This record gives sequence, structure tokens and C-alpha cells, in this order.
Amino acid sequence: MEKNHNISDLQLHTGVEVVRCYQCGKCSAGCVLASEMNFPPSYLMRLLQTGTKENYDKILLSNSIWLCLNCENCLGRCPMEIDIPKLMDYLRTQSVKENKLHPDSKPILAFHRSFLDSIKYTGRLYEVGLVAAFKFRTFRLAQDMAIAPVMYLKGKLHIFPEKFNDRKRMKRIFAQTIENTKTDNP
Ligand code: SF4
Ligand code: SF4
Repeated sequence: MEKNHNISDLQLHTGVEVVRCYQCGKCSAGCVLASEMNFPPSYLMRLLQTGTKENYDKILLSNSIWLCLNCENCLGRCPMEIDIPKLMDYLRTQSVKENKLHPDSKPILAFHRSFLDSIKYTGRLYEVGLVAAFKFRTFRLAQDMAIAPVMYLKGKLHIFPEKFNDRKRMKRIFAQTIENTKTDNP
């Protein structure tokens, strides 16, 4: 079976040694989303250990990496202190980079991008803009519309973003972050 160079990249960029996992299953037993995942964390570790491209692609195409909340329950329970949340972060990045995306990733990525756009253009979280951008990206136009007036009346929604003067600085921060990501994941 074809061996996958991405496995050594994974160790290089995360510092996590997948070979140290001895399949005790404690991570999966403590993961609140294990039952919803295509591959619970310990299963995912085993697939990584095989080092094959086929299994690596299975992981990138799975919903496991997108459902993970980075809650660190698995890390806290692991006798080998294996940083699964860090692996999940890296695998999500690779999934986007290689355009191998599970359908569950779409609303998550749409939210993520809308959130970052909000910060980029308004300097902080602008809820109305975030929701509008998310709905536009996911076509969930009518979803949760009934709660908007309630939130507005309770002062939780601001129709206009707050004044923000330092756009240039924010632009620099984003450019620098993108540059750093390229260095971390060449
Ligand atoms: S960090 Fe992810 S994999 Fe680990 S327990 Fe939390 S949800 Fe599960
Ligand atoms: S808890 Fe740690 S050693 Fe046990 S299966 Fe999970 S990753 Fe492997």
C-alpha cells in the first residue's frame, strides 16, 4: 500500500507523534462527539498510524475533523498526552488546502469566514454582518429569523457596526497571519 509523506509533515508541523498512541480508547470514551463522528479520536489515531495515503484521505474527507470542538477532553484523558486537538486543527487546514471536504464542513467554514470578515472590516464582532454573511454563504435565509427582533429588543443586536478607524493595522495583522500560516504549512 502507498505510504504517505503527509504523515511525516503532520508530525513536523504539530510535533505530535502518532506512533505513541497505544489504542487504549480513553480519548474516544471521553469525547462528547465521538458517536457522531465518522472516526472517533482513537480510530482516527489508528488510521494515521497506518501511514497510508488512502487512510489519510479518508480522514480529510471525514466529518470527525469538523465536528471536533477542540474541548481537549481527549488530551486531558490521554495517558500519553497526545494532543489530538492540535492534530484536528492541522487536519482541517489540510482538508481545505487539498479541497477534500466533508459536507458537514460547509456551514462551519461559512461561519468561520463570516466571523473573520467581520473582524477584518469592523475591527470586532459585528453580529448583524456576521449573520447576514453566514446566511448568504449557506442560503439559510429564513433560519432563526424569529429570534432577531427579540435579540434586538434586549440590546443584543446593533444594527450598525461600531466606529473603527484602524483598518490599515487590521489589514496588516491579517496579511501577517496569512504569511505565518504559509510558513507553518508550506
Ligand atoms: S477535542 Fe475534539 S476529539 Fe478531543 S474530546 Fe474534544 S471534541 Fe473530541
Ligand atoms: S487516549 Fe491517547 S493513547 Fe489512548 S487511544 Fe487516545 S490517543 Fe491513543
